[in-house]
Amino acid sequence: MRVLILGGTTEARQLAERLAKRVDLAVTVSLAGRTAAPALPPVPVRVGGFGGAQGLADYLRDQKIDVLIDATHPYAATISSNAAAAAPQARVALLALRRPGWTPVAGDRWVEVGDVAGAVRALGNAPRRAFLALGRKEIEPFMSAPQHSYLVRSIEPVVPPLKVPHAVYINARGPFAAADERTMLEAHRIDIIVAKNSGGPATYGKIAAARALSLPVIMLRRPLPPPYPPPLAGEGREGAAVETVDDAVAWLDHASTPAADRGV
Ligand code: NAP
Repeated sequence: MRVLILGGTTEARQLAERLAKRVDLAVTVSLAGRTAAPALPPVPVRVGGFGGAQGLADYLRDQKIDVLIDATHPYAATISSNAAAAAPQARVALLALRRPGWTPVAGDRWVEVGDVAGAVRALGNAPRRAFLALGRKEIEPFMSAPQHSYLVRSIEPVVPPLKVPHAVYINARGPFAAADERTMLEAHRIDIIVAKNSGGPATYGKIAAARALSLPVIMLRRPLPPPYPPPLAGEGREGAAVETVDDAVAWLDHASTPAADRGV
């Protein structure tokens, strides 16, 4: 069975690691190519966009892919929507592997907003010291609020830097432990955090640290996932959505077992 994993996440890499030694599967991971030195999985990797949903559908047909696994980040809405459109077009089964979001617990002070512009507004007019835990391509709107001081953390350098008088940049790749996050927030005298509800343990440290320091978190809501494509009836490989790598492997095991062997 030929499997294409749309990646760029820890789960995509972990799934590829789990599947790499399987002789019944030929697995390829696709990366967008946003980071110069990505953490690579132990399977063939292709890099770069497909050219929209149609380009992805063409790729799936050309490469004779049987199963498409959308293991992209919950905020990567365009590629997920392209996957949902391309899979049925190419008659390929689609599995979405999407980690659940975090939910606030006692002591959390979250303000939920719909987009980055909403996050800028939620900072208010009075000068704040904000930690921006967003991708480097998403922070431009904060230039419209130059009264704040920003601490920006991203994997790749922010080039060009924000046109604001007070900004400090840190380049780092997670996971980030809560204790280290707390030290960083205190060292930079941060009084508010802007974050995405990414889910998973790797970047939860800042949320736990914010709670411990009683800091507010402006939380960008997740984009809605695309509707899943209709099942490929009779082929035993209906589309599905799972939240863990274990469940994705179980789904693949089921999908790769001929219907007759399953007693269907
Ligand atoms: P996006 O807005 O949903 O996608 C924009 C375009 O990038 C897509 O239309 C597609 O180009 C290309 N693309 C995205 N993911 C791809 C993949 N895995 N393989 C090949 N092409 C891909 O995505 P994004 O938010 O910029 O994220 C880009 C990548 O970074 C994703 O793979 C995602 O998993 C990862 N990532 C994103 C975030 C985040 O917060 N957004 C965080 C961590 C990691 P074409 O239309 O030309 O095919």
